[in-house]
Amino acid sequence: MLKAIYPGSFDPVTNGHLDIIHRASRIVDKLYVTILENPTKQYLFTPEQRKQHLQMVTKDITNVEVCSYCGMLADFAKEADASLIVRGLREMSDFEEEFQRALINRSLYPGLETMFIAASAKHLFLSSSAVREIAFFGGDISSMVPPEVEPLVKKEYTKRGR
Ligand code: ADP
Repeated sequence: MLKAIYPGSFDPVTNGHLDIIHRASRIVDKLYVTILENPTKQYLFTPEQRKQHLQMVTKDITNVEVCSYCGMLADFAKEADASLIVRGLREMSDFEEEFQRALINRSLYPGLETMFIAASAKHLFLSSSAVREIAFFGGDISSMVPPEVEPLVKKEYTKRGR
């Protein structure tokens, strides 16, 4: 049984993330989509909200489970008995940091492998931070996030007076 983790901030989940989730879920037996909590960072949505959004958009993928974890990814992998980390790669600039993280995770938990999935061409320039920036200025994010998530992002900025 191949269990994998797809970690990230997912603040908010984008169509790029969802594409990686779909493609990874066809390769592995079980995919834990995991919100890694970093208490020192400021987020648009709480971990609980991000978990709800991810559950909503992955509800039809039977081998996906959404979790959140505050701690080191290698520790979560041990706890979940997962042997693979999935990451999406958009461009070479992602690579250096991702390569470093892969080596660190494997040194913290020997045997823990990282698999990179190339982003789809149409999602190459899509990131959560781009979505937040565009939404902040009232721009159109409909092609960037799942339809269920779009109104939630807009509402969040309206609430904040934008
Ligand atoms: P992090 O804060 O760890 O970078 P993100 O939530 O931004 O987490 O992304 C989680 C994972 O999804 C990372 O591996 C990232 O490279 C990947 N990813 C983000 N956006 C896209 C995209 N448009 N296409 C493919 N993969 C993506």
